[in-house]
Amino acid sequence: MIYVGVSACLLGQKVRYDGGHKASGFCQHELGRHVEYLPLCPEVGVGLSVPRATIRLIGDVSAPRAVVQKTGEDLTEKLEDFASVRAEQLAKLSGYVLCAKSPSCGMERVRVYEENSNANVKQGMGIFAKRLQKMFPAMPMEEDGRLNDPELRENFVLRLYVYAEWKQLAENINKGILYAFHARHKLLLLAHNQAVYRELGRELGELDALSDEFLETYICRLMAALSLPATRKDHTNVLQHVQGYFKQHIDSSSRTELADLILRYHHGIEPLSAPLTLMNHYLKRYPDAYLESQSYFQPYPDDLRLRYGL
Ligand code: SF4
Repeated sequence: MIYVGVSACLLGQKVRYDGGHKASGFCQHELGRHVEYLPLCPEVGVGLSVPRATIRLIGDVSAPRAVVQKTGEDLTEKLEDFASVRAEQLAKLSGYVLCAKSPSCGMERVRVYEENSNANVKQGMGIFAKRLQKMFPAMPMEEDGRLNDPELRENFVLRLYVYAEWKQLAENINKGILYAFHARHKLLLLAHNQAVYRELGRELGELDALSDEFLETYICRLMAALSLPATRKDHTNVLQHVQGYFKQHIDSSSRTELADLILRYHHGIEPLSAPLTLMNHYLKRYPDAYLESQSYFQPYPDDLRLRYGL
């Protein structure tokens, strides 16, 4: 099972300052079919009531304080501690979906106010979210609003599944398991960042002994590389590379059909799912151990339909 942390209000829990929620259909009904959630509300978790007075981020944009607007109570440490004392529970998570704009949960562009003023800049990060990122730098985190964008949604879910696999393997990792993991994600990584794929491959090749430090750096770099969007050009390069594997099996008209489909994808006429569906069909008819091992062909469950929007 994949465990995912989520701002409790996104699952429909009425924990917001105004007694409401911010239910996310994608979290509740689509992703929710495949993961087990750990819903947390940091503000309720530090003892605030529902409803409650609003909190603002105030002061230095790079290190603002979370302050209750009415009373001036500073909740910064309490919100940070809320994450720290749950470290063991949070360490089981493969990803986190956060509620946007919140001074506790917001991941980016949270308003930071000047002291005793309404002047603000949208450049902050929620206190809980910031601590979470510091504690688990490789863990995929995303905001509910950004998940409405098909590319960002696909990218988050893709990273979620790769990181969940990593967490499972990391329990008994050795060099062989690490090399196999790297090889299995080759095409995926090539689509997102060729340079990092090659750099990491070179470092793995020169590796004498595994260390916790190496593993942490490796997974952070791999996850950062995957967070870069893969363009149509990048996917086209990967698809054309894969196309070569079927040359010996399919006749010339089928080869032309596949090549045309890849080009139609490249020009934005077809979604990514179109050439991949045909390739998966050929893969079933002409099995190839290397291609079948590649996460690129099925990085997450098909019923999420994430590649139809790419
Ligand atoms: S955004 Fe975070 S702190 Fe605010 S209600 Fe939702 S879970 Fe609670």
